[in-house]
Amino acid sequence: MRRARKSDQNLARLYFGNSAELEVSVNPDGEISSERSRLSSAMAFDMSYCLSWRVAVEANNARAWRTVPAQCVRYVEDYMLGGQYCRDLDTVVDQICVYINGITAASDGMDAWILDVDDTCLSNTLYYKDRHFGGDPFDPMAFKSWALRGISPAILAVLRLYGRLIEKGFKVFLITGRDEEVFYLSTEHNLHAQGFIGYERLIMRSAEYRGVAATVFKSAMRKQLVAEGFRIRGNVGDQWSDLLGDCTGDRFFKIPNPMYFVP
Ligand SMILES: [Mg+2]
Repeated sequence: MRRARKSDQNLARLYFGNSAELEVSVNPDGEISSERSRLSSAMAFDMSYCLSWRVAVEANNARAWRTVPAQCVRYVEDYMLGGQYCRDLDTVVDQICVYINGITAASDGMDAWILDVDDTCLSNTLYYKDRHFGGDPFDPMAFKSWALRGISPAILAVLRLYGRLIEKGFKVFLITGRDEEVFYLSTEHNLHAQGFIGYERLIMRSAEYRGVAATVFKSAMRKQLVAEGFRIRGNVGDQWSDLLGDCTGDRFFKIPNPMYFVP
């Protein structure tokens, strides 16, 4: 029996991920045998379980979870860094572009889009990389230090979308649950440095909304925009709390995020 060709190993990794440490072999007839000496059945079960768990998260069936299940930490790492997350982001943005190609911003300048900031415009994957990709409980002080540094890279697919929205004449409002007093300057600097320039307003959580659920805060901010006469044509966020509630817009789009849940 000979060792599997590179292409066979890549095929196997496609299904089982890089962490599987596969030893795939090919018999003299060219058939791939299932010699996966270190891929235990338990591991295969975890992979299947974790895929189902991630679908439940993205579909808003799993709620109020505090950490990524221990057996899925490696799976989430593979998802975030192995290419599938970027592929999923591109697919979401491609679908949004199909939608925006069919609509026009009116000349009164009142057609608006809402974008969330954390893990929608700006990526915190580097921060979560050191925290087991959401396997560790949320640490508000550590996240504060990270966010104050203002070094989160743009999510490139969303930056591409952002450019299209500005180009088509939509007013873009960035609404984030970050505390305004603490994070305004670092967030604004971070957004500008990453190419998010020309938005209409960066709306952050004022003292009045401290401790209030994101859905309540963001609903109130959208309601205010509608009261000002803006028509919300689309809304994009990585959390369902960005997208549900009042004045949700003509359409909303969910950016993938299996690392944490914001109520
Ligand atoms: Mg977010």
